[in-house]
Amino acid sequence: MYQSKAAQLNTSLKGGFCRRPYTLFKKTIDGKNLTRVENIIFSAISSFSGEDARCKLSYSGFSERYNVSRASVARTIRKGKAAGLIEQDKSNRACASYRMAENDMTGGYIITEDYLYHVLFSVCGQARKLTRATVDVLSLIKTHCDNKNGDGCFTGSVRSIMTILHLSKRTVQQALKLLLNADLIFRPHKGINNRSKSEFHINKTFFRKFENAMRKKPAANGKPASEVRTPRFVAEADARADRERFYAQRRSQAEAKVKPFRIALDTDPIYHNLEAQRRPLSFLIAKADVAGDAAQSKELTAKEQDLTKRMLQRMKELGISPEDLQPPYRCKLCNDTGTRPDGFRCTCYPLR
Ligand SMILES: [Zn+2]
Repeated sequence: MYQSKAAQLNTSLKGGFCRRPYTLFKKTIDGKNLTRVENIIFSAISSFSGEDARCKLSYSGFSERYNVSRASVARTIRKGKAAGLIEQDKSNRACASYRMAENDMTGGYIITEDYLYHVLFSVCGQARKLTRATVDVLSLIKTHCDNKNGDGCFTGSVRSIMTILHLSKRTVQQALKLLLNADLIFRPHKGINNRSKSEFHINKTFFRKFENAMRKKPAANGKPASEVRTPRFVAEADARADRERFYAQRRSQAEAKVKPFRIALDTDPIYHNLEAQRRPLSFLIAKADVAGDAAQSKELTAKEQDLTKRMLQRMKELGISPEDLQPPYRCKLCNDTGTRPDGFRCTCYPLR
């Protein structure tokens, strides 16, 4: 699975990208918005043509770059021509050549790298290709973050992303969730609702390493499928290691704060003795429950409760409260583990 896609990347896609005018996301044909496939194909024609230039991609060229079937390419080009959106130059019979009837880049554009349609990203432990809508959301954020004249981030609400890209709320929310889970983007500041703005950053370390690796010339014999694939996994492993280090550090900082209290209790003979008596009880209670010995379970539970009470009393005498033993984790959602109770990655991981 990795192999074939990676091999395709090697041959034709490294470094390819397309400028997609904002105006195309608003474009309609017969009152309907363009589909995601139509959008990328028209964007490519717009991107590769100009006053004198024509886009000379063949059907197979479009199909390979954007991971679209040749039939869809043919259908889209037919539709674009019929609607007067694209013009075909027939003077050059050797290959097809197109341009947009009107090419309006003045409203600005976003950049989509070709590889985004091909690479399998690891999301929640699964290798997944991004949906076209997710590619669009990522491209929007990435274009803003990569803009050298910008402030290195994308600031926008779910609603503004919906409006710019012409996507539904659900689609935008799902795309953001996936991109965050895959660590492809970070959200250091989250708006309180769909209308308020969040701040998004891309995972610069990952993209820089990955894109550099992609631009390297592959060896001539088709061997190096692994060359494309390896850096991605290395980059992912690096990102994972960074992340784990970050959270381990946060946890140890929080746990260091409770350590003096813990030591005070452990070195107190009375508390220590009570705790030693209580320790085996939960196992014994569970065993009694499994054996169906209700009387035994009840007796042990009462004993456990009594010991707990006496331990709390002893703590009070020593001037220690139960809260003193709770590490002050900075993130209440994940207790500085990076993983929330629902299994999703926490969004508290900052850009560094
Ligand atoms: Zn968290």
